[in-house]
Amino acid sequence: VSVTATVSPLLTKLKRDCATPLPVLEEVADAMSAQMRSGLALDAPTQLPMIPTYVQNLPTGNEKGLFYALDLGGTNFRVLRVQLGGKEERVIATEFEQGPIPQHLMFGTTEELFDFIASGLAKFAEKESDKFHLPPGRTREIGFTFSFPVKQTSIDSGTLIKWTKGFAISGTEGRDVVACLNEALKRQGLNMRVSALVNDTVGTLAGAEYWDNDVMVAVILGTGTNACYVEQINAIPKLQGHVFPSGRMIISTEWGAFSTSLPLTEFDEEMDAASINPGEQIFEKTISGMYLGEIVRRALLKMAQVGGLFGKSVPQKLTMPFTLRTPDLCAMQQDNSVDLQAVGSILYDRTGVESNLSARKIVLEVCDTVIKRGGRLAGAGIVGILQKMEEDSKGIIFGKRTVVAVDGGLYENYPHYRAYLQDSVTELLGLEKSNNVVIQHSKDGSGIGAALLAASNSMYK
Ligand code: ADP
Repeated sequence: VSVTATVSPLLTKLKRDCATPLPVLEEVADAMSAQMRSGLALDAPTQLPMIPTYVQNLPTGNEKGLFYALDLGGTNFRVLRVQLGGKEERVIATEFEQGPIPQHLMFGTTEELFDFIASGLAKFAEKESDKFHLPPGRTREIGFTFSFPVKQTSIDSGTLIKWTKGFAISGTEGRDVVACLNEALKRQGLNMRVSALVNDTVGTLAGAEYWDNDVMVAVILGTGTNACYVEQINAIPKLQGHVFPSGRMIISTEWGAFSTSLPLTEFDEEMDAASINPGEQIFEKTISGMYLGEIVRRALLKMAQVGGLFGKSVPQKLTMPFTLRTPDLCAMQQDNSVDLQAVGSILYDRTGVESNLSARKIVLEVCDTVIKRGGRLAGAGIVGILQKMEEDSKGIIFGKRTVVAVDGGLYENYPHYRAYLQDSVTELLGLEKSNNVVIQHSKDGSGIGAALLAASNSMYK
C-alpha cells in the first residue's frame, strides 16, 4: 500500500474539519459582532472581556518632548525612546533595543520578571545620547505596553486578569502591573514614571493613527493575538454613569478568548487539553503564531502513527510538543524546489523524520490547511469588528476609507497567512465595501504609539 493511500483519508478529514467556506466565515464574523455587543453590556459574564482602556484621546500630532516606551508582550522585551517635535518635526529621533525574555522567567515569580525588565530599562536609559532632551527638573515618562488581559482602572493603572501565551507566574493575577513595575524601578534606583499603561493593540492603534487619521482598528497577530478599536461611549453600557468628555474610548476586545462557531479539529482539542489554560483562548489557539506549528505537528504525528507517513517508525522528537514552530511552517511553504529539499531538511532537523517526496507534499498540504484556516478566521474576526461599528453608525466604516492596522511577527513574516487573511476580508465584504477597507501592515508602531500615549497623558501637560 502506498503511503498516499493510507494517509489521504486523514488529510481529507483534516481539510474538511478546517474548511472555512464563505458561510462559515459569515457565521464567525456575525458571532464576533454579537459577542462584542454582549461584552459591552452591563455586567454580563461573556466570552469577550471588551476591556475599556481609558484611552480617550488618540495622538494629535502636537506631542512634544522625550518619552520612553517599554514593551512586554510575549517572546520579546523592547525598550524605546523618542524625541517628539510636534506637528512640524514629528519624530525627531528614536532609539530602541530588544531581547528575548528568558524562558525561566515565564515560570518564575512576579518580582523576578519585573526586576528583569526594570534592569533592562535602566541599562538602556543610561545610554541616552544628546539627541534627546528632557527639560530640567522633570521625570522621564514611560508608556508601558503590557500585552496580557488587564482590567484597567485608569490610564496608568490596571490589574492582571490572567496570564496567556505560555506565561505561568503565580501571584501576579489581581495585582496592579504598574505598581509591580514601579516597585521594580525603585529597587533599581531608577527615577521614571509610568504615564500610560496600554496593550500592544492600543499602542499599534495610536502609533498608526499618528500618521493616518483613518485608522479605526488595530490587530496583533504574533505569538498571541488581540484586537482593539475606537468605540463611542454611548455604545458602552458598562461605562454608564461615568463622564468621558471625548465621547470615545478605545476598547480592547481580548478577542483571543472568542470561541463561537469555530471549525476545530481533534488536534485543536488535544492541544487545548494539554495546554496550561484548557478551554481558554480558543480563537488565539486557532489563529496565532504560538500554536499553528503545534497543530501541524499533531496532525503529522497522527498521519505517521496511523498512516505510516514517514515509514514504519515514528521518531521520539515528533511526539514532543512544540518541536515544530510556526516559522518552520513558513520556511517549508517557501520551498519552491522540485524535490522539496528544504522541506525535507526542516522536517528532519525539527522532528527527526526522514521523508520522501510524496510525504513532503502531504506535509505542505497540512501546513497550508492549518495556515489557511488561521488567516481566514482572523479575517472574519476583523470583519466582525467592522460590522459591529458600522451597525451602530451607518457609514462610519464602509462609507469612507477605513484602515485596519495590523502588526505582529506572524502577519509580518508569513506571506501565505497574510494573503489568506486578505482573501477572507474581501470575500466577506464584497468588492465595493472592501475597496474602502485597507488592511495595512503597521510595523513596530506599538512602541512609538505607547510613547505618544505617555505624552498625551503626561503629568506636565
Ligand atoms: P510577540 O511575541 O510580542 O507577539 P512578535 O509580534 O514579534 O512578538 O511575534 C513573534 C511570533 O511571530 C513568533 O512567536 C512566531 O509565532 C511568529 N513568527 C515570527 N517569525 C515568523 C516567521 N518567519 N513565520 C511565521 N511566523 C513567525
